[in-house]
Amino acid sequence: MDTNIFAGLEELGLGGLSGDNLFDDGKPKAEEKKEAGVVVLKEEDMLLDKTHECPVCSNTFKNRALRTGKARLIGSDMDLRSRFEGIEPLKYDVVSCPKCGFTTLTRFFKPLTPTQRKNVMEKISNNYKAQPEPEGVYPYDVALSRYKLALANAVVKMAKASEKAYICLRAGWLCRSWREELEADQNADKTAIAQAQGLEDEFIKNAYEGFINARQNESFPMCGMDESTVDYLIGALALKLGHFEVSAKMIASLLGSASASPRMKDKARDLKEEVMRQMKNNKA
Ligand SMILES: [Zn+2]
Repeated sequence: MDTNIFAGLEELGLGGLSGDNLFDDGKPKAEEKKEAGVVVLKEEDMLLDKTHECPVCSNTFKNRALRTGKARLIGSDMDLRSRFEGIEPLKYDVVSCPKCGFTTLTRFFKPLTPTQRKNVMEKISNNYKAQPEPEGVYPYDVALSRYKLALANAVVKMAKASEKAYICLRAGWLCRSWREELEADQNADKTAIAQAQGLEDEFIKNAYEGFINARQNESFPMCGMDESTVDYLIGALALKLGHFEVSAKMIASLLGSASASPRMKDKARDLKEEVMRQMKNNKA
């Protein structure tokens, strides 16, 4: 199984990228239904077209985006991934110029330095095959290739470790959401489920390594997260990867921190219980 996180970008003209040294410095559509009088919106109804101007080629283009306030939060995972009813908003969190291939997460969409622009033109745009403007609901494979392209752009523009880690984290969550959608379908292809799981693991591993790197070398807030949120996240990702000691260390530091909020300390206590439960299971 191909778990190279850049696999599939060949089709866009960008072959030969490897996710091995990322931190080297050099669903079924939601059916409209009525439950207890509440109308559940279809995915398409939660979207709009948003216009952007490309900082690399100056092309004006439209991408699909989430309409503010339409997605309803229904829960969250231990590693802070939010779950929404009838839609995975992560699919629409990437801005991609269909003409030159410049791609970034919405959060990092901002002017580039001349060097970054030159690097993107040389290493992405020169090889990128122009695509039609995306329409409709994005299938998971399309959404995932947009994340891969965002990651390739981040590498080329020599983005901070935190930016690359954040892209990997969200790409990992997207794969989780994809797997959950597949698993909900009794006729789902088992290979596809395993592939989505494999990709999630690979992205989460990279996100973990990237945030550890960023925590040592960058200042806070980081990708909109304060220090205790990043520490909690590292602890939760460490648990997912089976690094119990790292997880326990991050939790202890959070519980002893004067700056962590009571809410974050509560989350850290829940995480601690989960770490102890899994350690016990591991020994058994
Ligand atoms: Zn462009």
